Amino acid sequence: MAAPVLLRATVLVVSTTASQDAATDKAIPVLKDVFATDGDGKWDVAETSIVSDDAASIRARILQWTDTPGGDDDSNLMNLVVTTGGTGFAVSDITPEAVSAVIEKPAPGLVHGMLAASLQVTPFAVMSRPVAGVRKRTVIVTLPGSPKGAKENLQAILRMLPHACVLAAGMDSRSLHLGGVKKLEQEAGVAGSHGHDHGHAHSHSHGGHSHGGHSHVGHSHGHGHGLVRHAPPGDAPPATPLSNDPSLGPTRRNRASPYPMLSVDEALARIDEFTPGIVESKRPVNEDLVGYVLARDVYAAEDVPAFRASIVDGYAVVVPKDKDGEKGASASESSRTLSGVFPVTSVSHAAPDEAKVLRDGEIARITTGAPLPAGANAVVMVENTVLHALTDDSQEEKEVEIRAANVRDGDNVREVGSDVRKGQLLLHKGERITAVGGEVGLLAAAGVQHVAVCRRPVVGVLSTGNEIVEHTARPPSGLRLGEVRDTNRPTLLLAAQEWGFDTVDLGIAMDQPQTLEQRLRDALRQVDVIVTTGGVSMGELDLLKPTIERALGGTIHFGRVAMKPGKPTTFATVLVKEAIRGPDSVMSGVSGGGGHSTRRLVRSIFSLPGNPASALVTFHLFVLPALHKMAGEQPRGLPRVPVTLSHDFVLDKERPEYHRAVVSVGTDGVLRAMSTGGQRSSKVGSMRGANALLCMPAGSAPLKSGARVDALLMSNIRSELSEL
Ligand code: AMP
Ligand code: MG
Repeated sequence: MAAPVLLRATVLVVSTTASQDAATDKAIPVLKDVFATDGDGKWDVAETSIVSDDAASIRARILQWTDTPGGDDDSNLMNLVVTTGGTGFAVSDITPEAVSAVIEKPAPGLVHGMLAASLQVTPFAVMSRPVAGVRKRTVIVTLPGSPKGAKENLQAILRMLPHACVLAAGMDSRSLHLGGVKKLEQEAGVAGSHGHDHGHAHSHSHGGHSHGGHSHVGHSHGHGHGLVRHAPPGDAPPATPLSNDPSLGPTRRNRASPYPMLSVDEALARIDEFTPGIVESKRPVNEDLVGYVLARDVYAAEDVPAFRASIVDGYAVVVPKDKDGEKGASASESSRTLSGVFPVTSVSHAAPDEAKVLRDGEIARITTGAPLPAGANAVVMVENTVLHALTDDSQEEKEVEIRAANVRDGDNVREVGSDVRKGQLLLHKGERITAVGGEVGLLAAAGVQHVAVCRRPVVGVLSTGNEIVEHTARPPSGLRLGEVRDTNRPTLLLAAQEWGFDTVDLGIAMDQPQTLEQRLRDALRQVDVIVTTGGVSMGELDLLKPTIERALGGTIHFGRVAMKPGKPTTFATVLVKEAIRGPDSVMSGVSGGGGHSTRRLVRSIFSLPGNPASALVTFHLFVLPALHKMAGEQPRGLPRVPVTLSHDFVLDKERPEYHRAVVSVGTDGVLRAMSTGGQRSSKVGSMRGANALLCMPAGSAPLKSGARVDALLMSNIRSELSEL
C-alpha cells in the first residue's frame, strides 16, 4: 500500500464572542484533540478559523476551502470542514442556514448519526439543528457550539468520515468498495463488536483524552499570541516558541513579528555564540587538502634534504679543511684556492645510485640535486672548469681542470636538513592550505603523510514555497499562473561551493507543516548546516519558524535583523541525537549517563528570505561566517576593505543597506565602488557582476560621490588596468 495520505480538515468556529477575542474559544483545541486522538492518524487539521455569527462571513470562509479561486491551484482545498457553534434556536444562530446555502448534496445520514449519538447522552440533543453535506469535493458538517457537544458529535461520525471524504474528493469508488461493506466497516473500525452501534462507540469517549504528547503541533488555548510550551525532542529545557502556531490559521497569526529586531552585529554575535566550534579530522596530504584549515601544528617528519646534495651542476671536490684558529677572513686564501687538473673518478646524478668514495685529489662530476659522494665537501660549478683530457674511447671525461678561487668547505652543498630539519614546526594550527601557497608542497617534501584539519561543514540548500518549481520545469512561457522558477537553490549551492564547502541539494519543499518538518528532519541527518530560502515573511504559509521551534524543538536565536535586504533572516540551532559512527561529525558533547552510543550534535538552520537578492546577500553576511567558524577559518566572513563611492548613493531611511556593487582599482591605486543598479530585493539581476556588498548606513540624505564606506568583498577586485 502507498503511504497514507492525510485528509485535510479545517475547524471553523462560529462565535461572535470568539471572533472578537480568540482567547475565549475553547472548541478548537478540543476538536483538534479529537482528530488527533480518535482520527486513526488520518487527519491533518490544516487550518482553523473564527468568524462571527454572520451568514455571509460563514459562507465566504467555507467557499475558500471548497472552491478553487480560479486556475487549478488546489492548495486551499479541504476534505472536511467542520463548523462549531450557531446551531441552536437562538435568534443569532444561523450556521445551519448559512451552511445549507453552500451545500450541493445534503447528507442527512451524518446528521442522523450525530443526533442519535447525542441523544444517548442528553435529551437536549434535540435542541441542535445540525446539517451536513458535500460542496464540490468537500464534506461539511456543523457541530454544536459547546466544546463537549461538539466533541461528542464529531466522535460519533469521525470513523465514517474518511470514506465520505475520499468519495467526495472524486476517488474511484468502485476500487474503494471492492471489499464490500465488510471491508469498509473494518477500515472504519466499526466492524465486529461495534456493529453499527454508534452509541457504543460514543460511550467510550467519556473517558476523556489526555492532551499530552500525541500531536507535534502544539495546542493553542485560544490566544492570538498564545505561548505554548512543548517538550522538545531532546532533553534540552523547553524554549517558549514565539512563532505562529500554524494550525491556528491566518486569522490568528501574529500580525507583527514577535522576534526582536537585532542589529547586524548583534545577529553576527549570536551566530558566533551558537555555532559549534571546530571538529578535528585526519586527512591525507594530497590535492584534496586545499581549503582545509589545520587543527594542529604540523612538524616535519624528515630532514630536507635527506642527504647532502649539490646545488649546481659541476664537480664534487675535496677541499682541505680549515685548520683550527684559521677561520673566515683570517684563513689563508691560497689554502682554499682549488686549481689544477684533477682526475674525474665518478659521476653522481640526481638519481638514487651509489657514488664512489672521493679521495683527496679526485673529483666527481655531479648534477644539481645529486648526492655528494662520500669524502667530497664542496662542489665547483661547471662554468669554472675546463675539459682537459678524454678517456681512450673519447666517451667520457678523464681529467678536468678546475679554475676556482676561494672554494670553501660546504660550497654549493645543501646540508642534510638545511631546508627543513626533522621535527621542525612546519605549519601552524589555523593556517589554511591554499592552492598557491605551497603548503602541500612543504608537507610533501617533509614526508608528512597525514594532518589534523578542521572538518569542513556540509551545507544543504532547501527552497521552500508552493509556487517554486524547478528552474528546468516546463519550457519558458509554460509556467502556470503564480509559479516561480527556483533561483535560490542553484545560486546558493554554487556560492557555498565557491567558498569551498561540500553541498547537498535538498530540493524544494511545499509550504505545508508536515512536509517541511519531514524535509528538515531528513536534512538534519545529512548536513551540518541547512540553508532554506522563503517562508520567513509574515504570511500564513511562512512556516519555517514554527516548524523549527514547534516541530523540531529547535531554538531560534534571531528572527529579524535591521538590514536591507534580508530583514526576516532567521538563525536557529537544533540538537539532534545520533548514534556514534565515526570521529568525523560536528559534536557538541557526548551524552553522559550511560548514553555512550549516542551523542548530541548541533545543527544550524539559516532560514533566509525568499527574494533572490536577499537570499544571496544574507548567505554571504550570515551563513559564511558560521561556515568559517566551523571550518576554523580566520578571519570569518567576507573580507572588508574601505572604498570610495564613484557616484551618489541613495540611502534607506531606517535600515542599513548592503548595496550590491562593483569594486575596482584604478591606476591611482584607489578602490572605487559603483552600484549594480536597482536594489529591489526581488531583483534577480542586482547581484550580477557584483563583487562586493557596500555597507551603507541608514540615512535620509544621499551619500555623495567620493564618500568612503566599507565594502565586503565577495570576489576579486576588478582592475581598471587589465581592462585597458
Ligand atoms: P517568501 O519569503 O516565501 O514569502 O518569498 C518571498 C518572495 O521570494 C516570493 O515572491 C517568492 O516567490 C520568492 N521566492 C521564494 N523562494 C524562491 C526561490 N527559491 N527562487 C526564486 N524566488 C523565490
Ligand atoms: Mg513562500
